[in-house]
Amino acid sequence: KSEKPEVIIERLQSQYQKIDPKKITHFDDIPLSLPTRKGLKENKFTEPTEIQRESIGFSLQGLDVLGAAKTGSGKTLAFLIPILEILYCKQWTRLDGTGALIVTPTRELAYQIFEMLRKVGVHHEFSAGLIIGGKDLKFERQRMDQVNIIICTPGRLLQHMDENPLFDCVNLQVLVLDEADRILDLGFQQAMNSIVKNLPQERQTLLFSATQTKSVRDLARLSLKDPMYVSVHEHA
Ligand code: ADP
Ligand code: MG
Repeated sequence: KSEKPEVIIERLQSQYQKIDPKKITHFDDIPLSLPTRKGLKENKFTEPTEIQRESIGFSLQGLDVLGAAKTGSGKTLAFLIPILEILYCKQWTRLDGTGALIVTPTRELAYQIFEMLRKVGVHHEFSAGLIIGGKDLKFERQRMDQVNIIICTPGRLLQHMDENPLFDCVNLQVLVLDEADRILDLGFQQAMNSIVKNLPQERQTLLFSATQTKSVRDLARLSLKDPMYVSVHEHA
């Protein structure tokens, strides 16, 4: 009675163009895979936040997204859910290498994203890894070529790209810049430019930050294709 994965995936993808944020109140109103829906439910995530509701549809449609919403508004799931869905729909396996790269300015934020991914992604079979320094480089290096979803800080990622022959991102599908404005503030702009040069052009890019600053737009210009600007304002 069980359906072929191809059939399930095709049905999911056929619904992407019809996603209307105005009609979404629950995660069940978004066409998401069973493992993602289970992961969300088990962690008591039932209703998407505004930035999730407004942006996830575009991300599922394969568009580049530049999302702005204040701290605490749920930006992490706004990019983790699409990552899980994109790799799921491509039937990504360990052998396919790194499919998604999440760059964030601090180790602490990287840990938080990793924890959220561990929870919500529990029913998927993707591997995930932190590349944030603090551990010795050799330890991180051994696993790199098998890690499907990498969460990293810019400096450490660049170090890997420069020094680690096992590490390549030729199959990369999605690049996420979390706290994009802070990445620039902290002087990571040059590192980011070098990182982006090492990534395939043919990919989806999702940028999230608390504010849509001019410099974020500058960075966006380097790597985004006709991005959808999703800005969630505070309601009075
Ligand atoms: P941001 O990155 O915008 O600062 P986070 O992604 O860190 O926000 O989320 C802030 C908090 O909101 C976290 O504790 C997270 O677990 C919670 N959260 C995120 N999405 C939802 C949701 N849909 N329903 C309930 N809580 C959520
Ligand atoms: Mg965040």
